[in-house]
Amino acid sequence: MLKKFIGAGLYLIGLFIALTIFVPIPGIGISPSNAAREVADIVLYNGKILTVDKKFTIAQAVAIKKDRIIAVGTNKQVLALAKKGKTEQVDLKGKTVVPGLIESHAHLQEAAESDYLEKLPTPDSVDSLLKYVAEKVKTLKEGEWIVFEKTFPTRFKERRFPTLQELDAVAPKNPIVIDGLYAGQANSYAMKIAGVDKNTPQPKVGVIVKDPATGELTGLFLRCQALILKHYAGMRKLTHEERMDAIRKLVASYNQLGFTSVIEGLSWENGIAAYNELYSRGELGVRMTYTFMPDIVKKSKEEIVNQVKAMQLLVKTPDSWGKIGFVKAWIDGGILTGTARMREPYGAKGPLHKKVYGHNDSNFKGVVVFDQATYAKAAEAAYELNLPMTAHCVGDGGLDVLLGAYKQVDAAHPIKGRRWSVIHGDFTPEDSLQWMADHGVVLIAQVAWLYKDGALLSEVLTEKTIKTFYPFRTIERTGIVVSGGSDLMIKWDPINAVNPYHPWIAMHALVTRQVENGGVLMPEERISRESALRQYTINGAYVSFSEGFKGSIEVGKAADLAVLNKDYLTCPVDEIKEIRALRTIVGGKTVHMTRE
Ligand SMILES: [Zn+2]
Repeated sequence: MLKKFIGAGLYLIGLFIALTIFVPIPGIGISPSNAAREVADIVLYNGKILTVDKKFTIAQAVAIKKDRIIAVGTNKQVLALAKKGKTEQVDLKGKTVVPGLIESHAHLQEAAESDYLEKLPTPDSVDSLLKYVAEKVKTLKEGEWIVFEKTFPTRFKERRFPTLQELDAVAPKNPIVIDGLYAGQANSYAMKIAGVDKNTPQPKVGVIVKDPATGELTGLFLRCQALILKHYAGMRKLTHEERMDAIRKLVASYNQLGFTSVIEGLSWENGIAAYNELYSRGELGVRMTYTFMPDIVKKSKEEIVNQVKAMQLLVKTPDSWGKIGFVKAWIDGGILTGTARMREPYGAKGPLHKKVYGHNDSNFKGVVVFDQATYAKAAEAAYELNLPMTAHCVGDGGLDVLLGAYKQVDAAHPIKGRRWSVIHGDFTPEDSLQWMADHGVVLIAQVAWLYKDGALLSEVLTEKTIKTFYPFRTIERTGIVVSGGSDLMIKWDPINAVNPYHPWIAMHALVTRQVENGGVLMPEERISRESALRQYTINGAYVSFSEGFKGSIEVGKAADLAVLNKDYLTCPVDEIKEIRALRTIVGGKTVHMTRE
């Protein structure tokens, strides 16, 4: 009896001690039993750990063992897991730590390859572009191509594409295309090579623009510049080794900003082969999620399913380092080229769209690539595969088509919980947002367009439309999950790339709504620093069904995190743009480290 009593007493004393030592900060998991057993590989203490858990708890310290986080809490709690000679103990001296950032939409392979062979400039004016071309043609033989990829009229000081005459003047004997991806401006030589003239019939998708007075071609091709570019062989293809080298270099730049995961906006077989091998060599610095775009027009639903399954078999890494995460389709064009499908005609506000985009039709509403039934077929295939359906979709009119397809599938079997998404989704009217919220549709957004192009777009588009341009505060109130990404397509430099992938500049735009020329667009749609960080961490994990594994600093999750050079939560707001990572850790492995 006495023995039993003493036993119970010891138990209670033991419990008391355990609770005193290991009382967890609310919301933070540290298990006393684990604590007694484990020795950490790395302990970061004396810091400001933004865990980005549900309550946005801030802790002092975090412990890592192998590829996982084993403790988060106070200095005392976490340092208990450190052992001299076995644990790297890092005094953060108050520095901020965030979960490894997740880039939720970048064309990583394409961008990596773009700068590898030749670094083209990023001209900020028609004038500088023409000067560059004039010099460049001197080094080329007659008939050799110049193609400026991903170059947009909204990003030129003159707020327009170069004209046919301007291009002809600097390059009379070389084909040129200024390719804005969803529209392209060609010179006469390029059109001649392609055999395109004013008698060429209009294509099924897109518009060959003609001078309304003379009927002559203007050299502008709205989402049909492939008519010209199919005659351009492109740059030399990279070898497998070169591709890996290119990816390694771009990923190193991502790591310097604190990124540890990337959702690739469009993946190809040779890219996946490169990521596979980088992983097996221990040289892949970011966790990948791939997006696959099957051939949805010609193939039946069953064939689409099989095509995706075949792609899945090519991925040789564990899921946490690479998986096919999405089935993608293409709805419309882009807002930087006036080809995004809009509800209102581009001429609704006035004629400025004619100058900026080269349109000659005030009633033009942009382009939809396929019909709703085709998108619904692809979405049915995604449903069967249990993969999220997603689509490139910029305009509100495009969104009507995409959500129309989602509704069609939803009528047969509810899509809620499947996290289907909209990539870009620049213009989201309230009725669309409501349907998305009700059906768990998530938004993969790129705030870069707000700060790079917002000033000009607000002059071109009506107030009614511009009110629906990334209204993040409104979206947040609906409960829709928004993940942040860049839509990086070419170049390596985080600021001069198209589009810029610097996440801290993006977060600055989210919290300030400042556009590049210094103005502010819809300040009422600002979101908090906490919400902005969620877009680049846990929400990116959510859209790729991996929030149980990464996206926050919590016990049991992947040891993916970044130590920052500034206090993100309290630094003066403009200093957010200067944030970078001092150290980045992915799966417990340091992939970037620098002095302050
Ligand atoms: Zn994209």
